Amino acid sequence: MKILNPSDGSLVRELAEDDTRAVAAKYARARAAQPRWAAVTLGERLGAIEKFKGQTEKRKSELAQILTRETGKPISQSRHELNALAGRIDFFLAHAKSALAPETVLAETQMREQITHEPLGVVANVSAWNYPYFVGSNVFVPALLAGNAVLYKPSEFATLTGLAIGEMLHAAGVPQEVFSVVVGSGAAGSLLVEQPVDGVFFTGSYPTGARIAAACAPRMVKLQLELGGKDPSYVCEDADVKTAAESLADGAMYNAGQSCCSVERIYVHERIYERFVDAFTAIVKGYKGGDPMDEATYLGPLARAPQLAVLEGQVADAVAKGAKLLVGGKRISRPGNWFEATVLSKVDHGMALMREESFGPVIGIQKVAGDDEAVRLMNDTEYGLTAGVYTPDEKRARGILAQIRSGSVYWNCCDRVSPRLPWSGVGHSGVGVTLSTYGIQAFTRPKAWHLKPA
Ligand code: NAD
Repeated sequence: MKILNPSDGSLVRELAEDDTRAVAAKYARARAAQPRWAAVTLGERLGAIEKFKGQTEKRKSELAQILTRETGKPISQSRHELNALAGRIDFFLAHAKSALAPETVLAETQMREQITHEPLGVVANVSAWNYPYFVGSNVFVPALLAGNAVLYKPSEFATLTGLAIGEMLHAAGVPQEVFSVVVGSGAAGSLLVEQPVDGVFFTGSYPTGARIAAACAPRMVKLQLELGGKDPSYVCEDADVKTAAESLADGAMYNAGQSCCSVERIYVHERIYERFVDAFTAIVKGYKGGDPMDEATYLGPLARAPQLAVLEGQVADAVAKGAKLLVGGKRISRPGNWFEATVLSKVDHGMALMREESFGPVIGIQKVAGDDEAVRLMNDTEYGLTAGVYTPDEKRARGILAQIRSGSVYWNCCDRVSPRLPWSGVGHSGVGVTLSTYGIQAFTRPKAWHLKPA
């Protein structure tokens, strides 16, 4: 497997992919080791994760460079991901004990009822490349704390980061067999999911999620899927145009638009539409693109070359159907996977741009007559990950957001994830929950105890 630098196409490293035998052997070792890991005290497991956090802090600058080299993420954004990782781990460290504690739900003399939170056993974690520290740690940290063994398959576009995570967990005291990194592309992911694991936790696109769900269905295995989005935001006529434009431009373009919760569609009230489009376009024109290793770079390349054709197709389709191209619109001709930051107005839902996940620095801004039309359009999607509203009026925002079918809603903000809140999707955005205390118990099986003293 060749790891290429998306910013210039150069070879970073070549690695052997795990084949059928290698994956089965990692599974067998995890199965044998898991009961011992579940039997060590929670205090010891918490200690190991605390040490892991220390490792990520100590090696931050080196880890940020590895991440930037293999994904093309601008170096300041790679460092930001590592900084925020510490906060996520702190949440799990602070809440694992209470979330995993046995609960007594009936305490009568003749009858007691209790719930214990048992580890699932061996879990597979097939992960995405866009935020490997976030989407990985959302799974492997609580899974390990709950006493599971984890077989972690990083994306083929973030393998070196995945291997570094493995090294740091092992150095922190998690046994090699309890956390194994499976190296490879989709084929290795498919081999992993075929093992008789007790849970499959996937982060990635809807098409891959649907394939994994179909493969797991006959086995009745616990399955969580964190998938894509076509995340909308609506700017009301009473919003501050400049503030909303700054927030939404960053929400659409950060990490070159390659976040599951990137802003993918913007609806603007007709009374401020022109002003908003002008302000938004000016901000996007000011973003600095270039070498992702440069501290000043805001826009880097795309991690995956095939996405360039998807973006080209969406822009061409929109323009052919009457959209107005305001900025960008094409590949940048240089080695690597470069696409211009692109803004289109006069868009509608007859265009793929407003219906299919772009996952790149491309955004359409549509004019709406009022709240009812905005709500109808925001819900006109198979996805349901996040949605936002910009207005100073909280009551109005809550009224609109209550009608939106999505896992997370934002008032005057966007592209935001909190460890304290559950992260989940509706429809093609997936099933299951990570983060919050729900995202700790997700890695356990509740066992019901009916206790009748003789
Ligand atoms: P992807 O679906 O192409 O790949 C995800 C993972 O699945 C990779 O590790 C890949 O090797 C593996 N895989 C591919 N085919 C497989 C198969 N048949 N069986 C098992 N594993 C297989 O997605 P990606 O390009 O890595 O990530 C981008 C997508 O992820 C976007 O749609 C984005 O919105 C989504 N995403 C969602 C969240 C969330 O929290 N909801 C977070 C990050 C990314």
